[in-house]
Amino acid sequence: MERTFVIVKPSAVNRQLIGEVISRFERKGLRLVAMKMTQLSDEILHEHYNHLVNKPFFPKLKAAMQATPVVICCWEGVDCVNVVRTMCGTTNSRMADAGTIRGDLSMSMQENIVHSSDSLESAAVELNRFFKPEDYFNYTRTIDTAIYSSDEI
Ligand code: GDP
Repeated sequence: MERTFVIVKPSAVNRQLIGEVISRFERKGLRLVAMKMTQLSDEILHEHYNHLVNKPFFPKLKAAMQATPVVICCWEGVDCVNVVRTMCGTTNSRMADAGTIRGDLSMSMQENIVHSSDSLESAAVELNRFFKPEDYFNYTRTIDTAIYSSDEI
């Protein structure tokens, strides 16, 4: 089973879409193993968006990511990293496919509702950055046997 990292961004918090976003991953069959509301610090945003700190839009992006608290989550499932990226849609919400979170809920490149890890490696780094070992829960759901065939897990 893979684990991936998701941020429900201030664009979702402001628009009262926290439940909508969480609900999509939940209904897909992914298992929520950690979740927390937090205010992102300058330091953590510089780390998280290290590949963007020199872009001209970074100050605006940082302000947008600090506009409200965010909800951070860890989701688990088979091929979870790619499944969640596909569900989020492309970065520019105006180009994102209908049916994706960004494609259905956003018109913006910056205010695009959700962050998800882009690879298994970055998921591990991001989860480690935002969560402590004691933040994770291990549990079985009664529906777990209905989510996958036994040869998939
Ligand atoms: P992601 O993995 O799809 O989130 O995309 P990136 O890692 O490339 O960018 C991180 C975040 O920066 C995006 O989700 C957007 O919120 C924001 N972003 C990316 N490109 C731009 C841009 O050209 N302008 C602005 N204002 N924000 C951007």
